[in-house]
Amino acid sequence: EGARLVIETVLAERRNVLTEMESKTLLAAFHIPVTRTLLARSAHEAMMIGTQMGFPVVLKIDSPDVAHKSDVGGVALDVHNGSNARDAYTDMVQRVARLQPGARINGVTVQPMVRARRGREINIGVVTDDPFGPVITFGAGGTMIELINDRAMELPPLNQFLARRLIDRSRVAEVLGEWRGAPAVRREALEQILLRVSEMVCALPQLREMDINPVIVDERGAVAVDARIVIH
Ligand code: ADP
Ligand code: MG
Repeated sequence: EGARLVIETVLAERRNVLTEMESKTLLAAFHIPVTRTLLARSAHEAMMIGTQMGFPVVLKIDSPDVAHKSDVGGVALDVHNGSNARDAYTDMVQRVARLQPGARINGVTVQPMVRARRGREINIGVVTDDPFGPVITFGAGGTMIELINDRAMELPPLNQFLARRLIDRSRVAEVLGEWRGAPAVRREALEQILLRVSEMVCALPQLREMDINPVIVDERGAVAVDARIVIH
């Protein structure tokens, strides 16, 4: 129900691209684990939210006009205390306004910093392909995703067998086992996310594109720290 309300509101505003917060709300509605993400509209609010969540936190620009936040200096990782949060807010809003003049800025989102010591960054997505309709993708994630170009694909609906096979067909599968001294990741957590993405695709015909990039996974579990959904 939360998912439907988000979609209705976004379409009523004649938008197609959901913000990170809206996208994560949709994911949470389908029980996909996400980092709790709240919007600060001032430097003072960023400080208060960070204090309530507990440091370290991550600050990110919240703008319907910014697709790749780190490209415009719109991501501040590992913010350690209230005065850093306040400064990071002010610096970020100024930087983004300078690098992308005219971008509408709602404020800055605040979320806990995920401290997975040897976490692997995964991209789980949905693309809509002309003859097939929505296709589910799995591969390496992070900000250098375009360079890595690792995208295994499978048509929904997925079952556990298909989800496992999709993971196995990606190149990033190689680093999901024991890797450079880091323990093997909880692959079941990734399978679970894939099954829930499959449910989303089947339940929401409006969903056209989705990028959960990255999902951070380690031996304890997996969590989505960024997401971008396009609807129609
Ligand atoms: P972009 O819009 O540039 O894709 P992201 O939200 O994906 O911005 O952030 C860029 C990078 O910062 C991610 O690939 C990830 O490595 C790191 N990151 C983002 N959010 C968190 C978080 N909550 N905890 C830890 N690392 C994060
Ligand atoms: Mg991202």
